[in-house]
Amino acid sequence: LKRRIVLLGPPASGKGTQAELVAHRFGMLHVSTGAILREERNRGTDLGKEAARWTSQGLLFPDALALDVVECYLDVHGWDAFILDGFPRTAGQARAFDARLSSREAMIDRVFSLCLPDEEIKRRVLDRITCTRCGATFSRGLDEVSDGDACRICGARLERRGDDTLAALERRLAQHRQLTDPVIDYYQQSVGVTVLDAMRTRDEIFSTLCELLEERSVV
Ligand SMILES: [Zn+2]
Repeated sequence: LKRRIVLLGPPASGKGTQAELVAHRFGMLHVSTGAILREERNRGTDLGKEAARWTSQGLLFPDALALDVVECYLDVHGWDAFILDGFPRTAGQARAFDARLSSREAMIDRVFSLCLPDEEIKRRVLDRITCTRCGATFSRGLDEVSDGDACRICGARLERRGDDTLAALERRLAQHRQLTDPVIDYYQQSVGVTVLDAMRTRDEIFSTLCELLEERSVV
């Protein structure tokens, strides 16, 4: 079975959910840089504070910091089988991470890219509301929740993210494209990239991912 996977995708593409499902099904580690940093921030560690400095200004992490976060996490939890969610964000991170992998005689086996039209990303992001503690997201329309409600998972307060405004979102999308397109090009030259249509339902996307991952294990 292909065990080291990268899952790429824009905001609101369902990347985190799919990574979680795949990790659970195949017994892999789900490496979410967002979740790791949220945890560090909640614990008030130096790394958490450093991370908050960047994200509170809507800035992306420096490559070296993102790489350290992922490497430390894998050093603790193991490098054998994982799915990366939210990393690598830049071609520089992808290259540097490959170097770290090859020094451990390992490599990325498979790269998936979830793809979603901008109009749909905007619709989903502007509709969503986020838990201030666990980071779960809900749809104001579908889940019938609003600002200040309690999170169904952990009970903390739900809020619209400060950067979930149309102007901020358009900036994030432009930045995402500018940084992520080179990541896709980079992997295209090595392991190849499988594009998945993120307009489909959660279950449809997950079953395609399962088929693709299982099919490779037979070869
Ligand atoms: Zn929560």
